[in-house]
Amino acid sequence: MTFNVQAIRAQFPGLQGLANGKPFTYLDSGATAQKPLAVIERMDRFLRSEYGTVHRGLYARSVDSTRAYEQARVSVARFLTAPDEKNIVFTMGCTDAINLVAWSWGRKHLKRGDRVLITGMEHHANIVPWQITAELTGAELVVCPILDDGSLDMEAFDRLLDSRVKLVSLIHVANSLGTINPVKLLAQKAHAVGAKILLDAAQSAPHMPLDVVDLDCDFLAFAGHKVYGPTGIGVLYGKSDVLESMPPWRGGGEMIEKVTFEKTTFAPPPARFEAGTPPIVEAIGLATACEWLGSLGWADIHAAERDLYAYAEAKLAEIPGLRRIGTAAERSTVLSFTMPNAHASDISSILDLEGVAIRAGHHCAQPVMQRFGVTATARATLGVYSTREDIDRLAAGLRKVAELFG
Ligand code: PMP
Repeated sequence: MTFNVQAIRAQFPGLQGLANGKPFTYLDSGATAQKPLAVIERMDRFLRSEYGTVHRGLYARSVDSTRAYEQARVSVARFLTAPDEKNIVFTMGCTDAINLVAWSWGRKHLKRGDRVLITGMEHHANIVPWQITAELTGAELVVCPILDDGSLDMEAFDRLLDSRVKLVSLIHVANSLGTINPVKLLAQKAHAVGAKILLDAAQSAPHMPLDVVDLDCDFLAFAGHKVYGPTGIGVLYGKSDVLESMPPWRGGGEMIEKVTFEKTTFAPPPARFEAGTPPIVEAIGLATACEWLGSLGWADIHAAERDLYAYAEAKLAEIPGLRRIGTAAERSTVLSFTMPNAHASDISSILDLEGVAIRAGHHCAQPVMQRFGVTATARATLGVYSTREDIDRLAAGLRKVAELFG
């Protein structure tokens, strides 16, 4: 299929219509993506005529529902090029997936003297769970600094990575900066000192094909709603032996083998980590989203997004006083910036009057803001449906901001 952005846009009801009387210009896909009809209609159909509980009922509806839920796991495994669907744990989101690793793997495998190495560009979802786990286990959280362009300080990384590090947990693509980290190389380095590696792929999964075998990551986490799927669902990929080494983190139905009042034995992964009735409809919606995204063709997605990003960067460079935050050589479709005299929230409010939706704030990355000496940035992010017209409207709005505040 050739990449036709107008044909893609037509599949997104959420992009149609007006905002504040202007064409709705959605440039906040990094926060959450709009949903294609394929996902909306699949979830609608499932809810209307296929819905039933999973893993419990012996009647046909439940058996079919179980099959659809487990088939969703197969689709997600394919999306990540995972060896087996048993490597895929459904979670409530990316945050939830990282918390799973912190609470289960962390409490089992970390002790005083051990280190978890993160980076200075993490989302709070990959900082706070490790702080809590460090507090509980006595392990130490170590942060690899970032350079002025927002790239990882590789010399510091090499210096900090030693045999005390038991886990390297890092963002694949930084949501506040756009930096693409060299995660395959970092995985090799981590493994060379005997550490495991977790990739927060929340911002990479929507933009690039992920091959967990090639990357050789031990864990990978992403969120359904950023890959054009529903909220309330995320994924933890884990290598088989690593998942098998981990105790449950939540107890309840479905994650057990046998329960007595004296003792409970647990199901193997992934069920061990999916206590309770899972997000059935959302898992099916996510699988549809993964299939839909894959059907566009990654090479075409990449080419279109690169082209639009270059166009957007050139347009932003024309705005008087605009300062880009995050200019690493390897960067994805994030445009984070500040403007003189205008707070990020002013920028966002003025753009909103023009129908342009961007994010303003710390992007759940307060340490990044501190690193660059700002309290907040304005951030535009692209999706597969973004167009040059969207960027033109953004640029026109920013020129108004520059006139008002300059
Ligand atoms: N990591 C990164 C890099 C993110 O951008 C986000 C979402 N902003 C998360 C983690 C958390 O994702 P969720 O809120 O869907 O759990």
